[in-house]
Amino acid sequence: MALEPRLREILDEVRGSGGRVVALTGAGISAESGIPTFRGKEGFWVVGSRNHMPQEMATHAMFLMEPGEVWRWYLHRFGVVRHAAPNAGHEALVRLERALGGRFTLVTQNIDGLHRRAGASESRTYSIHGDAAWVRCSNDCGVGLLPLPDLGPRDAGSPLSAGDRARLTCTRCKGWLRPHVLWFDECYDEENYRFESTLRAAAQADLLLVVGTSGATNLPMRVGQLCFSGGSALVDVNPEENPFSELAERSARGFFARGSASARLPEIVEALAG
Ligand code: NAD
Ligand code: ZN
Repeated sequence: MALEPRLREILDEVRGSGGRVVALTGAGISAESGIPTFRGKEGFWVVGSRNHMPQEMATHAMFLMEPGEVWRWYLHRFGVVRHAAPNAGHEALVRLERALGGRFTLVTQNIDGLHRRAGASESRTYSIHGDAAWVRCSNDCGVGLLPLPDLGPRDAGSPLSAGDRARLTCTRCKGWLRPHVLWFDECYDEENYRFESTLRAAAQADLLLVVGTSGATNLPMRVGQLCFSGGSALVDVNPEENPFSELAERSARGFFARGSASARLPEIVEALAG
């Protein structure tokens, strides 16, 4: 699909100005890699006889009550992620990073590591909701980030064995290790989630390119608002209308590029990076 004339105009202008680009990605960019978004029905998990939504499972409160269940849910999700491969959307953003270098920042809500596996650099990627590749101590005892222990192949429902439990125990304080992810009842910070760095990048952006984000979380919406009020160009790639597409449509330099990430990003990147 050829770029719409207004979209091309916006991208040409950004390219000509040599300004900074921030790409903000959400679960939608990984949907075509087979990783369910949180709003799909695949997110359910049964504890006892009750169905739980991700918004309940991915909380500190649930981890305090049922750490083993929360781990089983994550190990199931991480298993799905391990078998997924990056798609044309992730690859296009890597081409953009390589073309722009220090003028590019990737802010991702995804914990799936697909941006990294496509070739995105660690230093220019802010994983604002954490990263499935890492764990840390749930008591914050100071062991820092550790690689996710390899518990081998697991069935979706299999309970944690004593060996699994041991590998998920902090060697320093003997508490539970936890996934290095931001839970719904926790706050953003700089140390784990690059909160201030993200706001700084947003304030300096000449273009905000939003991809596959529903706008249900706090920091991404702040990034959108900052860019909107600061006069940045704003392009939203999503098959569905969402709060970012509304911002883009209200913006003097905005465009809602309706469609999937893999269909729309290659051409958008081509226009920005040549
Ligand atoms: P979301 O599930 O709330 O919304 C996904 C968005 O992607 C929707 O707006 C949808 O219309 C759009 N979308 C669907 N298919 C698409 C496609 N092919 N191309 C482009 N867009 C598409 O996701 P969210 O906004 O990222 O927020 C939910 C939270 O869930 C985040 O905190 C994130 O950390 C977490 N999460 C992460 C993953 C992952 O790591 N892959 C997966 C699910 C949820
Ligand atoms: Zn510890």
